[in-house]
Amino acid sequence: MSAPPRGYEVSPWKLRWRTLDVSALKRTESTFALSNGHIGFRGSLEEGEPRGLPGTYLNGFFERRPLPYAEAGYGYPEDGQTVVNVTDGKIIRLLVEDEPLDMRYGSAPFHARELDFRSGTLRRRTDWVSPTGRQVRIQCERLVSFTQRAVAALRYEVEPLDGRMQLVVQSDLLANEAIEPESDDPRVAAILQAPLVADFAAAVDYSAVLSHHTRRSGLRMAAGMDHEIETPDGVRTKIEADGDLARLTMAVEVPEGQRFAFTKYVAYGWSAQRSTSALCSQVEAALAGARRTTWQGLLDEQRAYLDDFWASADVEIDGDAELQQAVRFALFHVLQAGARGETRAIPAKGLTGPGYDGHAFWDTESFVLPVLTYTVPAAARSALMWRYATLDKARARAAQLGQTGAAFPWRSINGEECSGYWPAGTAAFHVNADIADATARYLAATKDEEFEANYGLELLVATARLWMSLGHHDPHAGFRIDGVTGPDEYTAVVDNNVFTNLMAQKNLREAGIRCERLPRVARELDVDEEEIAAWLDAADRMVIPYDKTLQVHPQAEDFTSHAHWDFAGTPPEHYPLLLHYPYFDLYRKQVVKQADLVLAMHLRGDAFTPEQKARNVDYYEALTVRDSSLSASTQAVLAAEVGHLDLAYDYLAEAALADLHDTQHDVHNGLHIASLAGAWIGTVAGFGGMRDHGGKLTFAPRLPPELAAITFRMCFTGSQIRVAIHPEEATYSLLGGPSIEIGHHGEPLILTPDAPVTRPIPPTPRRTPPQQPPGRAPFRRKPVLPR
Ligand code: BGC
Repeated sequence: MSAPPRGYEVSPWKLRWRTLDVSALKRTESTFALSNGHIGFRGSLEEGEPRGLPGTYLNGFFERRPLPYAEAGYGYPEDGQTVVNVTDGKIIRLLVEDEPLDMRYGSAPFHARELDFRSGTLRRRTDWVSPTGRQVRIQCERLVSFTQRAVAALRYEVEPLDGRMQLVVQSDLLANEAIEPESDDPRVAAILQAPLVADFAAAVDYSAVLSHHTRRSGLRMAAGMDHEIETPDGVRTKIEADGDLARLTMAVEVPEGQRFAFTKYVAYGWSAQRSTSALCSQVEAALAGARRTTWQGLLDEQRAYLDDFWASADVEIDGDAELQQAVRFALFHVLQAGARGETRAIPAKGLTGPGYDGHAFWDTESFVLPVLTYTVPAAARSALMWRYATLDKARARAAQLGQTGAAFPWRSINGEECSGYWPAGTAAFHVNADIADATARYLAATKDEEFEANYGLELLVATARLWMSLGHHDPHAGFRIDGVTGPDEYTAVVDNNVFTNLMAQKNLREAGIRCERLPRVARELDVDEEEIAAWLDAADRMVIPYDKTLQVHPQAEDFTSHAHWDFAGTPPEHYPLLLHYPYFDLYRKQVVKQADLVLAMHLRGDAFTPEQKARNVDYYEALTVRDSSLSASTQAVLAAEVGHLDLAYDYLAEAALADLHDTQHDVHNGLHIASLAGAWIGTVAGFGGMRDHGGKLTFAPRLPPELAAITFRMCFTGSQIRVAIHPEEATYSLLGGPSIEIGHHGEPLILTPDAPVTRPIPPTPRRTPPQQPPGRAPFRRKPVLPR
């Protein structure tokens, strides 16, 4: 018999891994993570060991830590923030006739785990033979509820396979789980080793609650568990809770042919304000609700939630089964990251790992929200509400920097700047325009007037004001923004970064036009006609550098005059460059970490001609090394737009498979949520050619030769749309909501409920494929068909 295959099996709606591979645990704990945007469980084994990197995260729950500087400077943030691994409610240890289930011992004739994108659960089946030869089957399924956001649940079932057996199960809540420190800084390690201080513990019957607080950030949390034992007769139980551990022990004799099964309900509550007793009560109430719903009820709710999601967001890819799986995996995790965040951030890793300290970046507004806006608009709204909730901190930061308006942080958990490196930190002021762009996109796509009047306009105004103080009018009638960093972190603190200036231009116009439309709200925000005129004037005069000799846009002023990076002399093992070369050398040469000018051509595609786009793509392809996972999806979008369909397919696959193939070698720290969002962007904006300039929805679909069809769904101003792309034609259908005007390759179309509209796809312009730096071309994608 041949050994079962290792690695993920290709399947349209599941991610499945057979056999236990201890060396892959850290990776699969990230890919098998469950989250609802509020609570995150890494995909660790229930028995706690073997393990990679245990992790249970609560959105917004962090500890402060020192940010040491060799040489401090004015305005440097003093404190960092790090997401905390909180009380683990997943742990269920099993003793089989005295022998602890530990898959490093004995043998496992069968072991498989699967993440199911439709049920929203992680399932496991393990047939285990203990070192003394006893055989059991363990089946477990767990979920983090989309519908009851404080709740997670696990159903656990053990079946003796070789006769009557004594089983003992210990179901735990465990705080301050020891984890191997990842940081070299001993102060940081000490803080994060035992971040929680015990406040309260109680246990009764089958339930227990533990409550803790953090030492420095002063946040409080409570975790609770309750159990429903399916056949309680003959089960001896004991419950205990003290300090960092609460445990329900269940001991039972199970005859062959029968099973011992129970459901564990887990709930969390946390707050900076509420008292320990209030949090404990909240958790007990959540547990009571979950118990009333029952395990089956939670499963049904989860399924219904996901049925709705897939009905409005699914992407079907015909011709590449692995890409199909990857795109659904990506959408599922993007949903998990943002579904129930509710005025909390969407971190770069979601709640799947401790990478980037759990911080949120511009990744949210520029990658994740473009997906959520068109698939789960309510989630996009709540992510913007997080920014709104931190507006006071952003205003204080702008004031500290001597600017007006609001300066949102480059990276943060609670809205305070946590970046200690100016050039690739606060200097990336474009994050403010990205927030404005996401706000404008959300408003155009939803017409949510309540949000606009109460929150959105204020975000637009506060960010517009920042640009007015960061920029200035030069003597040549231009409005310049000098000394900032664009998305490409290999070029820092530059003048007139095209991306920043175009995004700021849009920010100023959106603020101006919307203030004119809502004069009452504008007055409340102290905006007068003069200020609006100043914004619109600055936007019109915005300096957008252009290199007339090369006929391309320099990414920032003078960029095209810089020396070229010596790509031929850079060995493959010297990537990512930031780990092998000094920043000063990267900064003064033409080498691009991630799409910057190319991203401008996507998000502000209305500011470029088709010829400029084609030339700029050629120019920047030759310089872009993709040392960030935020690049490939954008390159896919522009490659598709200008007609390099094969290249777009390669880039789409790179973005979609970044975590499943672990191409960045760091998936153990958590998933790359922006790259996962890029799987949708590369498909819908890339091959679908979807654009939303000026609040209008247009498409310019084209398929790469390797794919037979792509079908996607999205919503816009209350209309549900399906777009089916075939090699020769595209069909648009209105699935629900009012008739809507869209564009197909420049032709306006009205979609009505009566009949789908089919249009031919015009021929693709023939162009010579661009070159990438040696060794940095994406892998040529070969479609993977089902095994
Ligand atoms: C990228 C940033 C990104 C951050 C978090 C960095 O490597 O250069 O653009 O925001 O990762 O994903």
